[in-house]
Amino acid sequence: MRFPGLVALLCLAGCGGGKRGPAPLPATVIEGATWIGEHGEAVADSVVVVRGNRIEAAGPRASVTIPTDAQRVDAAGLFLIPGMMDLHVHLGATGGPGFRPGDYTPERIRKNLDSYLYHGVTTVRSAGTERAEGFEIRNAQRAAPVTTRLFTAGRGFTGVRGHPSQEIGDIARQPATPEDARAQVREITAQQADLIKIWIDGKSEIRIKPETVEAILDEAGRSGIPVHAHIRYYQDARHFFAKGGAGFLHMIRDRKAADFEREFLDEIKKRQTVFVPTLVRQELAWLYRDHPERLDDEEVARLVSPETLAAVREAAKKMPAPSALQKEEFALAMANSKALAEAGVAFAVGSDGGSQNDLHGLMTHRECELLQQAGLPPKEVLKAATRNGALALGKSSELGTIAPGKLADIVLLSANPLEDSRNLRKVSRVMLDGKWVDRGALSLK
Ligand SMILES: [Zn+2]
Repeated sequence: MRFPGLVALLCLAGCGGGKRGPAPLPATVIEGATWIGEHGEAVADSVVVVRGNRIEAAGPRASVTIPTDAQRVDAAGLFLIPGMMDLHVHLGATGGPGFRPGDYTPERIRKNLDSYLYHGVTTVRSAGTERAEGFEIRNAQRAAPVTTRLFTAGRGFTGVRGHPSQEIGDIARQPATPEDARAQVREITAQQADLIKIWIDGKSEIRIKPETVEAILDEAGRSGIPVHAHIRYYQDARHFFAKGGAGFLHMIRDRKAADFEREFLDEIKKRQTVFVPTLVRQELAWLYRDHPERLDDEEVARLVSPETLAAVREAAKKMPAPSALQKEEFALAMANSKALAEAGVAFAVGSDGGSQNDLHGLMTHRECELLQQAGLPPKEVLKAATRNGALALGKSSELGTIAPGKLADIVLLSANPLEDSRNLRKVSRVMLDGKWVDRGALSLK
C-alpha cells in the first residue's frame, strides 16, 4: 500500500462513525494561498488540509471540503510550496573559515538544523562528516521531528591523504585497501546510514583508487545502500556511475556536457540520477572577497555569532583573487548545469553548508540563485529545491510535493518563486511535520 498513514488518518477522521476509537487528529487548513504545484502550475486561492502530520487534501478551493474541526489559517497573498531540501551539508560546523573538530557537538548540530529550518529548508542530507552524535539526533527525531529532517552518510570515503582530509582530517575514511573499504562499508551499514559518500577528487596520486571505489559500490550494493560521489572529472564520474553509483555531488568541470558520451547521458536520465551541482561552493572562493557587503545582511547576523562573522570577514580580506582555472571551472559548471537540465537530467539543491565560509541555510538560497543564473527556469529551480530532493533521497512517496498522504512540510513565501528564484528566500511561515515553526524563537548562532 502506498499511503498506509493516509488510510489510517482518514479512518481516524471519518470511519469511526462517532463510536469508539481515538479522537480525530487536529486539522489545520491553509487557505487562500497561491499553491505552486508539482509541475510549476500556480493554483490561485488554494486550500490545503493538514491532519496530524500529513496532508489530507490540497487543491483549488472549489475542490476541497474544509473539515469543520479545522483550525483555519488565512494565507491570502502568500505562495505555498513544499518544504525545501538541501542535499549537501556538513553539520557540527559554524560555517566559519575553518572546519574545527571541536565544533562537532549535539548543540551545534541542532543549531545548524534550526538554521535550515529558519530558511524554509525542512530536509537536509549530510554528506560524509557525521559521527555518532549526528546519528543519535537523526534517530531521536525520526518519529517526531522538532527540527529539520536529517539524512546522513556518516563518515565518507576518500583516498589515503585524499581530498578533503587536509581540511577535515580523519573524519574522512581513508581505507588502505579495497578489503579495508569493504569492512568499513559494513560498519556504515550497521549504523543504518541513509547513503554512503565518496570523494573522488584531487591529484591522481591521492585520489581514491578505482578498485576501492568498485569495492565500496559492490559491498554497498549487497545491503542496498545508495552511494553518492563528490566528483570533478568526467572519467571519474563515468566510472563511478558505470559501477552502480547513485548520484553526484558537484558538477563535472573538465569537459563540456556536449562532449559527454551519449550512453552515459541516456543512462543518467533512465535511472533518474540526480545531480547536486553545489555551484555555490565554487563561488565562495571569491564571493565575500568581491562582495564583503553581503556579510552586512541582517540574516547573516541572525545566523552566525559575532566571532564567526568576524572570522569570515577577516578570511574574505585575505582571499586571493580567483585563479584563471577556478573561473574557468565555475563557468563550465554553470554551462554544464544548464545544458544537462535542458537535456532532461534531474537537479537538486546542495550548498555544502558548514564547509569554509559556507553559511547554513543562507547558502542553500544562494545555490538556488546560482541555478537560476546558470539558466534553469525558476520552476525548475523550485523543483530542484523540493521534488527532486525527495527523488534523490528515495523518499518521493513521503516528501517533496504537496499531495494527500505526504508528510506536511510546507513553506509560505511572501513573493512568487516562479517569477524569481530569489523569492524562495522570502520565507513567511514554515510548517514541519504538521506543526507551525516559531522561527523567531529558534536559536541559530
Ligand atoms: Zn561537501
